[in-house]
Amino acid sequence: MNPNERTGLVTRLQAGFYTVRADLAEYTCRIRGKLKKEMQNSTLVAVGDQVRFSVLPDRSGVIEEIFPRKKEFYRLSPGTLREFKQVLLANPEQVLLVFACAEPEPSLRMLDRFLVITEKQQIPEIIIANKVDLVGEKKAAEIFSLYTELNYRVLYTSAKQGFNIQSFHEVLKGKISALAGPSGAGKSSLLNCIQPGLGLRIGQVKGATGKGKHTTVVRELIALEEDGFVADMPGPRTLSLWDTQPEELDGYFPELRGLVSGCLFSNCSHDSEPGCAVKLAVEEGRVHPARYESYIRMRIGDEG
Ligand code: GDP
Ligand code: ZN
Repeated sequence: MNPNERTGLVTRLQAGFYTVRADLAEYTCRIRGKLKKEMQNSTLVAVGDQVRFSVLPDRSGVIEEIFPRKKEFYRLSPGTLREFKQVLLANPEQVLLVFACAEPEPSLRMLDRFLVITEKQQIPEIIIANKVDLVGEKKAAEIFSLYTELNYRVLYTSAKQGFNIQSFHEVLKGKISALAGPSGAGKSSLLNCIQPGLGLRIGQVKGATGKGKHTTVVRELIALEEDGFVADMPGPRTLSLWDTQPEELDGYFPELRGLVSGCLFSNCSHDSEPGCAVKLAVEEGRVHPARYESYIRMRIGDEG
């Protein structure tokens, strides 16, 4: 590599410019023109990408190469000629799904939609059940028990009482994390508990990009004081499931995956067909009825 070249992490997108962090310094970069000319079927540079760039005398930079992504948070847009993969966030290492135990009442339907997305894109997820102080630990564990039974990790927190904040902090350290969940669940409060002002930063990024239709990609990764980065993910309404085919949906419900081969019809929709192993499992209490209902609603394209 020539002496003016560095490798770094893309942390911000703004009007055609990319902020790249390397060795704790930040460089404002554009992309080498010839990279743009190549035929692309996916986002060229996304927040979270690792890149090689050259530094110019004025300390700005030019991105020369984008390293292969380990993971992507993406959605597919059916183009006229070919499908385009819009990368929302490159190299996410985990998604934290933040829900309140109460105020607002947790929408498990929404949680199930997020879980389908993380299952499909194979990004490790952790459910953060915040506001435990409002319902008590016992009730909180009851609300989320169907997820612990499915081996999803649930971390119970209270930003208000400082409960399990240390564990929350540990989870974030050294990783690129995406935060998702309904507004009011306490994302900003939790972030403020581990680093004053952090919640506000997340809110500002959201506010600045919350309008218009180009709001679905992550615009900024915020650095933690200790190692690690966090990003706010687009909500489930914009992260629709429309690039998930109805027939593949049962593959993203861990408790249904192993059952479908037992259905009488190989194209069973697990709704009204005879000889359905999924429906039998629901009747026998092996599949939670709420999860089954989520599945059916998603299958028929109900956004609610
Ligand atoms: P966000 O929209 O997910 O960022 O949620 P906020 O952090 O703005 O929190 C929404 C509201 O819930 C605020 O009034 C917070 O003070 C409150 N809140 C956040 N965490 C807790 C908690 O653990 N317990 C209780 N009782 N309230 C909380
Ligand atoms: Zn079936």
